[in-house]
Amino acid sequence: MISIAYNELDYLHNLDSHVENSNRTKSIVSKLSSLFVDGKLKKERYKFFVAKSLDYSSEVWSIIFTVHNQEYVEFLESKVSKVKKFDFLDPDTYVTPYTLKVILTNLNLLFSLCDCVINDGGFGFAYIRPPGHHAESSKAMGFCVINNVAVLARYIQLYHNLKKVMIVDFDAHHGNGTQEIFYDDDSVLYFSTHAYPFYPFTGLISEKGIGKGVGYTYNFPVSIYAGDNELLKIYQNEFVSVYNNFAPDFVIVSSGYDIHSHDPITYMNCSINGINRIKDIILETVGYKRVIFVLEGGYNTNVLQEVVLYDINGIK
Ligand SMILES: [Zn+2]
Repeated sequence: MISIAYNELDYLHNLDSHVENSNRTKSIVSKLSSLFVDGKLKKERYKFFVAKSLDYSSEVWSIIFTVHNQEYVEFLESKVSKVKKFDFLDPDTYVTPYTLKVILTNLNLLFSLCDCVINDGGFGFAYIRPPGHHAESSKAMGFCVINNVAVLARYIQLYHNLKKVMIVDFDAHHGNGTQEIFYDDDSVLYFSTHAYPFYPFTGLISEKGIGKGVGYTYNFPVSIYAGDNELLKIYQNEFVSVYNNFAPDFVIVSSGYDIHSHDPITYMNCSINGINRIKDIILETVGYKRVIFVLEGGYNTNVLQEVVLYDINGIK
């Protein structure tokens, strides 16, 4: 079973002039719909979670507070309540009056997707935005307001009583937020490949965790021009070995498609085949179950459409 989640109302968090805009998911959803038009895909293989209104349960807040501190969340609420059309939390990160509601709805979708993957088997894709992996416990950064994958990791631990979660991050940028949130934690392992030296200029090999978290952060910086070969080597070797040693109960993948050579904001040189191969390695390693791929970066809409084509119709 392949489970798929997206939020039809994420255009309420949008700024046309910004590279992180709602055309990203719009292009994904239009590709997704076209794939099902001719009836060639067996519908019973897929399960959809689609938000058609900005709805979320009250539980979402309590899980956010296990990741972000109260001061930061209050700052966000107050900022968003005063926004007319849009405002900025940092030079890169905008908010609209609907940003928090869109994010809370996205998180609720992630929880439903996760319940399905755990209870009914298989794996899932969440095509949600804004992305999250730069958001730290008390700071918005790099288009990210709330750290989606971090909140999902805590949800899995608290609501499904699973102890060990591994977050794999193949975005071109280092997920400084995810690393910071779990830096002293031995129950959530963070594994990242990313361009270096490049924004946000963290993610050195020497960053391995702190306190009981030492040995639960793995960084593999690659050249800012790196392509398929460099990344595939790391996924074939280091990823498989770290996964086998940690033996997680669930894997979340921060899926950043800005590693593609046609991405407008990075210099990396991966191909669609290379990206597909990274996913295959992850899926083969985890046994095609208990893994969710969550959208992070990726700002070329043609690339995003190719990605979804493989997610839905390519993976065997
Ligand atoms: Zn990125």
